[in-house]
Amino acid sequence: MRARVKSSGSTLRAGSPPAASAPERAEDLFALLAEHAHEQVSLCYEPSTGYRGIIAIHSTVLGPALGGTRFWSYGSDREALIDALRLSRGMTYKAAVAGLNLGGGKSVIIGDNTTARREPLFRAHGRHIEALKGRYITAEDVGTSTQDMEYIKAETNHVTGLIGTSGDPSPVTAYGVYRGIKACARVRYGSDELAGKTVALQGCGHVGYHLAKLLHAEGAHLVVADVDPFRVARVVDECQAQSVAPDEIYRVQANVFAPCALGAVINDATLKLLRVEIVAGAANNQLADERHGDALEARSIIYAPDYVINGGGLINVNAELQGWSLERARAKAGEIYDALLRVFEIARDERIPTYRAADRLAEERIAAVAKVRQNLV
Ligand code: NAD
Repeated sequence: MRARVKSSGSTLRAGSPPAASAPERAEDLFALLAEHAHEQVSLCYEPSTGYRGIIAIHSTVLGPALGGTRFWSYGSDREALIDALRLSRGMTYKAAVAGLNLGGGKSVIIGDNTTARREPLFRAHGRHIEALKGRYITAEDVGTSTQDMEYIKAETNHVTGLIGTSGDPSPVTAYGVYRGIKACARVRYGSDELAGKTVALQGCGHVGYHLAKLLHAEGAHLVVADVDPFRVARVVDECQAQSVAPDEIYRVQANVFAPCALGAVINDATLKLLRVEIVAGAANNQLADERHGDALEARSIIYAPDYVINGGGLINVNAELQGWSLERARAKAGEIYDALLRVFEIARDERIPTYRAADRLAEERIAAVAKVRQNLV
């Protein structure tokens, strides 16, 4: 077996069993990698700075593994590893359904993300990314900033989301969500026209605001909620929206519920309140549990799987790798419409919930590309 475990910059490769003499804990780690067939995980350590990082590469079948760097104070190293594994796998699926030539990766830096001593940490991270020779490309994520990306850039070119480049991805994300809502409407009502339809929008932040503008421009009625009254007021003013208290948004009778704030908003408590025909919004991890996706299906509520409909952020970053332009990023985000129609088609043909159909679509594309590559001499 080719696995190596070193105290600094060590690499664990999935797909091989651990050595018989390996300590029990290491066996656990390999089992974690093998569970979802991660290609590679690097444990990175820099004693001079106290930097401790994990870079997880789930798949490079479609292209270099792209995914942000999360800077977080985890309860344990194992928790950090599991987060990196889970998030990197999610990136593989997201890139695959978005039709991008990117694989899935993610990295975490373990520690207090409010620290002022950022340059040595992020340069150390950059050096470890550079050692992967382009198999992994990083970007911003929770706990990091564009300035942090500049520190990484000093050590490697395999970084996006830099100052003065594509910038805030939310207009592109919102456009993708808007197109996704139209695809849902087409399946549900036979027309993707949103004029006269009512959308209950949760969250008037970066994505929610831009989404509200697009929906309003098409003539949709908006009922909105946010815990921040200033953000609500802006959307009410600019989009002639009606506002409700944050807890009331689940009870609004509407065609569409668009979650654009938090994760896990489709749960036991909210499901019984919903009076909509479509759930389609930008928030990540909308289903508290898979069974809530089944419950939406059972109630004939069309669910646009979150990682398909909110792929605009990743599409925006990808556009940056190829020389960013808003037109190009928007055009690609517009294709979320077709991706969702395909998801709904798979769901219908195979009689499975849409969240499973999305996984199927991603896996189909990865398998098809892997096959093409295998057949090339
Ligand atoms: P944001 O922080 O700008 O906006 C979120 C809004 O939700 C804020 O205005 C906040 O006050 C509000 N909010 C928080 N708790 C709430 C509650 N209980 N009820 C109502 N409103 C509440 O974030 P964003 O960039 O607009 O992202 C929104 C969601 O979309 C997040 O889940 C994010 O992970 C996801 N997402 C964003 C992008 C992007 O490009 N920004 C891309 C993909 C996914």
